Amino acid sequence: MASKSFKTVLEYASNQRLDRKFDRAAQLSLQDAVRSILPRHRAAACMRHRLGTRITVSKTASGATRLGGVMICGAHHICPVCHSRKLAAQKAELSRVVAAHVRAGGSVVDAVLTVQHHAHQKLTTVLKKLDDSWKTFRSEPVWRELVRDLGVVGFVRRLEVTVGPNGWHPHLHVSFLCDPAVAPRDNVLARGSRQKALDGAFAVLWSAWRIATAKAGAASRRQAFFSATVNGAIEVERIIQYTMKNMGYSHDKDGSLTPIDLLRIARDSDPKSVERLEAARLFREYADAIRSKRAVMLGGVARTLTGLDADDKEEPEVLGTVSAEAYDVITKHPDARDGHLRAALASVTSREGLIDVVKRAAQLAGHPKLPDGWLTLKTGRFSGGAESIRSGCQAGTRQQPQTVFVGATLPILIRNGSGSQNVRLSALPDKVRRSVGSIG
Ligand SMILES: [Zn+2]
Repeated sequence: MASKSFKTVLEYASNQRLDRKFDRAAQLSLQDAVRSILPRHRAAACMRHRLGTRITVSKTASGATRLGGVMICGAHHICPVCHSRKLAAQKAELSRVVAAHVRAGGSVVDAVLTVQHHAHQKLTTVLKKLDDSWKTFRSEPVWRELVRDLGVVGFVRRLEVTVGPNGWHPHLHVSFLCDPAVAPRDNVLARGSRQKALDGAFAVLWSAWRIATAKAGAASRRQAFFSATVNGAIEVERIIQYTMKNMGYSHDKDGSLTPIDLLRIARDSDPKSVERLEAARLFREYADAIRSKRAVMLGGVARTLTGLDADDKEEPEVLGTVSAEAYDVITKHPDARDGHLRAALASVTSREGLIDVVKRAAQLAGHPKLPDGWLTLKTGRFSGGAESIRSGCQAGTRQQPQTVFVGATLPILIRNGSGSQNVRLSALPDKVRRSVGSIG
């Protein structure tokens, strides 16, 4: 029964080529899919429910739009809009942690930790095995070896769940922060060549994880365990890029599906089709199992490194405010049910854009001109004393590029259960996923 569900959605995804766009409009349409699958979940009210009488529309320095005065659900495991927002914040935070650690002379060992699973197992069952294995992994005798052999002084742990031919595949991406000074004598990372260091790190981690999974009553396979060493010799930006590469549910995961892919199937397939039904069923199971799970966990020095250099928190620039009446037309008017105005408002980055959206809403509601009070524009950088104007302001807008980690092609040495190889960074995710996704 369960294995049929996985087969159905995987077949659909490979035959139909999922539309993996993940801009604001796509996030909102996927949020609509959540709403139809889980109508009583708080994500169903996210960015729809008003909290006050006016909605504030602002723009951040990185060019993102912020709406104030509307309910934001914060259910980042479930809601695509909140997932995207949380992801950006997490990437920034984890980048800071890894950068601070490497600049202080530390090195990083990345690993993906998995447990064996089958298509007939429920997600809660596999998640529990993974949780229990991690607890044993962190317990005294096992962890002490990691400290002694690798000089582990902290970690950044991310939980991800995907769906593959063998069912639910929850796994942990862990960046181990290692300090050569902590284990100066027998540190495997200090054994000459990169190949030797990598082989050593792989052996230590694999041995510890195997003990942990066995104690927890789970099983793991060497082939499914992936480990890569990135040492201090590589520039910090490249290490960060490598560490962050796979984060989030919005992109392709090589043959497996993410929870957001399930929403894509639910959104794009025939409403009464078996694919739609199975995708919705699996997403409901995921939503239920993932509740209260932590997506990111920091341990050891990672906790003290977070927040360093975090002085880039700036006030967003307020573009204007919109009345409750206008907002209700934008989100609820029968002719705006396809979400086009909602998507337009949620990606406004200029005053002209804001005027345009509110004008279109007024037209839709049958008003020959903009009703009084529907739109108030603000000029200047908002700091409490900004000047307000009631109509057609022509203030200039400032565009800043998003912060992104771009196209490195540095070879990184990878080690998995069947050996090691040099690959280009750009080719990395596929290789990683292939080795991780092949659990029997
Ligand atoms: Zn939300």
